[in-house]
Amino acid sequence: MEQLKNYVGGALVPSANGATLENFNPATGEAYSCLPDSDEVDVAHAVNAAEKAFPSWSITPAEERSRILLHISQLMERDLERLALAESTDQGKPVALARTVDIPRAVTNFRFFASSLMHFASEAHPMEQAAVNYTLRSPIGIAGCISPWNLPLYLFTWKIAPALASGNCVVAKPSELTPVTAFMLSSLCIEAGLPPGVLNIVHGSGAKVGQAIVAHPDVPAISFTGGTMTGRSIAQTASPMFKKLSLEMGGKNPVIIFADCNYPEMLKTTVQSSFSNQGEICLCGSRIFVERSLYKRFKRDFIDAAKSLKVGDPLDPGTNLGAVVSEAHREKILSYIALAQDEGGTILFGGRKVNPGGRCSRGWFVEPTIIEGLPYTCRTNQEEIFGPVVTLTPFDSEEEVLRYADSTQYGLAAILWTESLTRAHRVAARIHSGIVWVNCWLLRDLRTPFGGTKNSGLGREGGLEALRFFTEPKNICIKL
Ligand code: NAD
Repeated sequence: MEQLKNYVGGALVPSANGATLENFNPATGEAYSCLPDSDEVDVAHAVNAAEKAFPSWSITPAEERSRILLHISQLMERDLERLALAESTDQGKPVALARTVDIPRAVTNFRFFASSLMHFASEAHPMEQAAVNYTLRSPIGIAGCISPWNLPLYLFTWKIAPALASGNCVVAKPSELTPVTAFMLSSLCIEAGLPPGVLNIVHGSGAKVGQAIVAHPDVPAISFTGGTMTGRSIAQTASPMFKKLSLEMGGKNPVIIFADCNYPEMLKTTVQSSFSNQGEICLCGSRIFVERSLYKRFKRDFIDAAKSLKVGDPLDPGTNLGAVVSEAHREKILSYIALAQDEGGTILFGGRKVNPGGRCSRGWFVEPTIIEGLPYTCRTNQEEIFGPVVTLTPFDSEEEVLRYADSTQYGLAAILWTESLTRAHRVAARIHSGIVWVNCWLLRDLRTPFGGTKNSGLGREGGLEALRFFTEPKNICIKL
């Protein structure tokens, strides 16, 4: 079995205690590699390495930082196929998705921040004849970056790239369920000539490594993506230390379909927004609200579309849904499907485990699942399932659907389908969420602010927001 290593001080090293955790291939259910089961000792080594690297990296000219980050993106692009295969094997997603979405986006994350750092500027505020103020933006120091398993390299690089671009050194932790592509990134960083200690990657559990990064007194900024419960626990540790926090957390996103939508486009995209990556994207729409006059037609066509999706081997180019990430996660999804039935819901399609046979006969697969007949207030409609499970609910008016849409503790994304320009503006402005997609889904411009409201997020990532997060503004006032 391959032994993954931590990346600390520019070298690939085992955990100090020598302990390891097994890493599983969700499509086969088999352990296929081992990752370091690191703890606070490894985090302390990583922070030391980052502290040593910081004085030099923070004053490395922007052009040189940009060159190295671009080089990393080029190496990822060179290895795209290898990284896509590794991501699919590690996470369970169709390799076709990793090849077209995950890895290209990870490449773009580095490329985007390598170029945006060259254009990052700060403000000046002249006070007529009296004085001039300018804002100096300096790197914070050591940034802690913690990411989840659903889009492993995509989200890992989304944090690391802006942190490095703005002159910080980083101690990062990928999810223990999907560590492989982060490990591969370590080697690419060495090959690209990233100075030792600038980026440190410590593998292991959230309870040991994640907690140690958050609690470390010399890590003043934490950028986290993951579940809301974890985000809350991070905030409890970090807030009394007055750390800067960016928290990207769970969602229960509404899809609102008005009868005047572009029907074929809506249907095609709603299948994607429901079941892409087995529904394991924080931005997937899981509560589908359909204007009553369109409800029957949509229900029939949506079920037909779901029936045509192939659940199976992630390496098969014809597969639409691969494996879900772990056995425990599959059981969680199935328990929510059982709960939906207890709550009075009807399963219109799916709802069961799938055994694709062959090498995948012991893997963790779930059918795309469509449920109707549930009140919007029930647990199935309020709690994040994070799997290929959606509910359908009819509505009669804008007021009613806005009440449904905003009823959860979450506010990450909303998807709206209407050809009425005025309605699109009106409803989009009233929904409480960080992103509203109108007549599209997952269309991302990396310059825009990204994040959630309510219990979905604190702060924003993306573009200048990310560079601002990873820098400390200082106002300098000079009397004239
Ligand atoms: P998770 O919260 O269990 O884990 C996320 C990361 O935090 C992992 O690396 C984990 O090891 C670490 N962690 C766990 N406990 C920790 C602790 N006490 N201190 C510090 N770190 C700790 O989430 P997950 O199951 O990996 O990911 C799924 C969740 O992520 C879903 O809720 C999903 O909505 C959310 N998510 C949100 C976004 C977004 O942009 N808002 C994007 C992707 C996923």
